[in-house]
Amino acid sequence: MVGPDGIGKRTFARLIAKTMLCTGSEPSAFAPCCRCETCAQIDASTHPDLIEIARRPDKTGLIMEQLVGEGERRMREGLCYELRMKPYSGRRKIAIVDDADTLAEEGANSLLKTLEEPPPGSLIFLISTSIQRQLPTIRSRCQMARFQPLGVDDLSQLILRHGLAETQASAMNLASQAGGSMSTVANWTNEELKAFRGELFYHLLQRPLDFTKLAKAVQGNMESVGTDSQPRRERLKVIFDFALQFYRSGMEARVNTDSGSSEGSKALEAYGHLSSLPSDAFVFAIQRCMEAREHIDRMVSPASLIEAWAADLAVISRA
Ligand SMILES: [Zn+2]
Repeated sequence: MVGPDGIGKRTFARLIAKTMLCTGSEPSAFAPCCRCETCAQIDASTHPDLIEIARRPDKTGLIMEQLVGEGERRMREGLCYELRMKPYSGRRKIAIVDDADTLAEEGANSLLKTLEEPPPGSLIFLISTSIQRQLPTIRSRCQMARFQPLGVDDLSQLILRHGLAETQASAMNLASQAGGSMSTVANWTNEELKAFRGELFYHLLQRPLDFTKLAKAVQGNMESVGTDSQPRRERLKVIFDFALQFYRSGMEARVNTDSGSSEGSKALEAYGHLSSLPSDAFVFAIQRCMEAREHIDRMVSPASLIEAWAADLAVISRA
């Protein structure tokens, strides 16, 4: 399952698992009863026929032990081993590998044999944000299903359902800025992050953009999550996403203004001196934020990554 974060890939995989294993309905009906013991166990992640793994919060990626067991227990535990066990339900075993993007080559290789000769009736989901991040050997053994970002209407309904906005209008407003992702919504509504986002936007709007101040603010916020590198990386992604959204909305306002929309020019006013930038400059800034985000996982030193990013934005904002 390939698509951006926070659009429901894992939720969907779990729903299929429920459909396949529910004892209160036929799988072909594609309508799990949500009342039987199986459905309850799947909701609680305790059903023995559903094996789920995801990157552990303190690790940079999935580790081989999660797939094939550790040390002396190698090949006697882990996802690949459990998948070969007789289904408890008498139906089938289902595995969900979340964060499959973070599977290093060693781990991917240990999964290959299982993907090549899956146990009869078993179902294996790999959840990924980008097909390019999967090794060709994995790709060639899977059937790809692409997932698109959520539409503004669907997203605003979800926002209301989760109580992340109080009115229809504020839900729509939030949804239109979230790029179709519930993860983004969660970050935008997080109180602590909200304050920092204001600070970040303030720096981005300065004329001229003081890139040392910007870099310092970003670094400070990244360090506020602790000394472990993985939570810091995650935070940095959120920050780059905020900046990305800042320029994306700016570009949208620019384009709408250029095509004569009064709403567009009203939105563009909020961009102060940046409102005179051509849409190309917004595109460059967007690309630069995406590039910086990509580099986080490549183990570049965060300080130099942040500085280079901030310096480039300063240049772009003078364009
Ligand atoms: Zn059920």
